[in-house]
Amino acid sequence: MTHRRPRIGVMGGTFDPVHHGHLVAASEAAARFDLDEVVFAPTGRSSFKQDQVVSPAEHRYLMTVIATASNPRFTVSRVDLDRPGLTYTVDTLRDLSAERAGADLFFISGADAIEQILRWKDAQELFTMAQFVAVTRPGHQLSVAGLPPDRVQVLEVPALAISSTDIRARVRAGKPAWYLVPDGVVQYIAKHGLYRGQDDE
Ligand code: ATP
Ligand code: MG
Repeated sequence: MTHRRPRIGVMGGTFDPVHHGHLVAASEAAARFDLDEVVFAPTGRSSFKQDQVVSPAEHRYLMTVIATASNPRFTVSRVDLDRPGLTYTVDTLRDLSAERAGADLFFISGADAIEQILRWKDAQELFTMAQFVAVTRPGHQLSVAGLPPDRVQVLEVPALAISSTDIRARVRAGKPAWYLVPDGVVQYIAKHGLYRGQDDE
């Protein structure tokens, strides 16, 4: 019997809140790259969002659990929440590959984030740890210049002009978030009064 190495997608994000853009990207990547599992890894503190107000980690974690609960292939990891200090993708990948020895990792990321990758900590090592799936998002022209072509693959997902920034602004303005995020996440936001009167960009 031949054993295929497990193929694990990793979706890192602030998930403040998680939305259908994230979920569609994960689902499309799973289909395209034949992934056995997609691990959602909510960030601790991101070095790129240090000047922003970010909701407490436990809220972001629980919303991610609610949003992914019904999909048997989706899981949520606490590696970045439980590690002290700023979150770096190199640490996320190191921890997850230690947990799942022998698996091939696919780091799924929006085009905006992928373009920044060369600025990430230990950028060159990252490409040895995982394949990178650059998901194109609406209104964004992807430039992968300077990235190793054999380790970065572009995946177009159906246009979803959804961002967490927009959802937070909508909630603050009293507009609905229904259908942009899973129902349970709308209810969680209301229950805990998230995104009311918070300063944001
Ligand atoms: P914010 O507006 O607060 O930055 P966000 O919507 O970009 O939030 P993040 O948690 O920052 O969400 O993103 C996590 C990952 O998901 C990133 O790689 C980002 O590029 C990607 N992503 C975000 N929105 C979408 C979308 N609509 N479609 C596909 N990928 C997305
Ligand atoms: Mg973002």
